[in-house]
Amino acid sequence: MKRVKTIFNHVLLSFLVIFSACGQNQKAMDKGQGNANSTDSSMMDKPDSYWKKVLNDEQYYILREKGTEQPYSGKLLMNKDSGVYKCSACGNVLFTSDRKFDSHCGWPSFDEEVAGGKIITKTDFSHGMSRTEIMCGHCGGHLGHLFDDGPTSTGKRYCVNSVSLEFTDAKSFVEEASNIDTLTLGGGCFWCIEAVFQQMKGVISAESGYSGGNVANPTYAEVCTGNTNHVEVVQIIFDKNISSMEDILKVFFTVHNPTTMDKQGADEGTQYRSVIFYRNENQRKTAVDIIAALEKEKVYDDPIVTKVQEFSVFYKAELSHQDYYENNKNKGYCQMVIQPKLEKFEKVFKDKVKSR
Ligand SMILES: [Zn+2]
Repeated sequence: MKRVKTIFNHVLLSFLVIFSACGQNQKAMDKGQGNANSTDSSMMDKPDSYWKKVLNDEQYYILREKGTEQPYSGKLLMNKDSGVYKCSACGNVLFTSDRKFDSHCGWPSFDEEVAGGKIITKTDFSHGMSRTEIMCGHCGGHLGHLFDDGPTSTGKRYCVNSVSLEFTDAKSFVEEASNIDTLTLGGGCFWCIEAVFQQMKGVISAESGYSGGNVANPTYAEVCTGNTNHVEVVQIIFDKNISSMEDILKVFFTVHNPTTMDKQGADEGTQYRSVIFYRNENQRKTAVDIIAALEKEKVYDDPIVTKVQEFSVFYKAELSHQDYYENNKNKGYCQMVIQPKLEKFEKVFKDKVKSR
């Protein structure tokens, strides 16, 4: 177990180095709060009115008014999960879980910050004492105090208010830090959708398969009966820096008809229903927003019936269904149904077509 944990920490740290180098924090970016680079002073200049809006009362009291939470009251005090601790005001990554120790002082304690400059210090003469205050190097938020009585080789004890911290477990953190994302889409016959996305820039792989049903490991024949409730889907792994989730969905809504219930052209049945299987809140929100925008702009004559549904499992389809268009270009279906969709994609999204 110990060995596994060590390997995990190594992997986590590797990501952290890349993550810090990029200076990006997805959540902070989502909040429009810029990057978590300590040299970026934009967050330092935010007025109180800004912080009153984005922080709750308890956070404001501790982070902006330099308050202290009651000892033994913080929700992260006893947290022993693997992951990272970020500034709860701006998302700046401050500590990793492997530097946390139980100091018995009543506040989360760490023996080292994640990298130099993530935290800034100032001498604090309040309460008739001389202490070293620690603050977030990105937003200036009050974290707690630093003492020289740590039990490890660093000799340090970063004593931090739980309220000033936000914990992100290792898996989510790695996902956040990665440029690679996965999306599963149903838009009628998977041969068509797969062929289109295989041509799209930024798409690393597009595989045909089945999702959303109630039978494990279904066959194509079983799915075709409509009794398993599966959808023919394409699982797309893509590089968000080249094609975003929005880009992928724009193509999706261009190359299939999202207004026909359980039907796509001549293909009829629940396995041809239009559906976006989301894996996280960001994907769900992007899908819902795009559908709302398309409805608002009245892009289609009829209402959109595309379902936005939580992803659970993807079963890869049989080999004969993979790269179907590529391997069967001369067949009637490919020429009559897939080819026009590809041409539409290539015409509408010229700059998104992979160069051959
Ligand atoms: Zn901060």
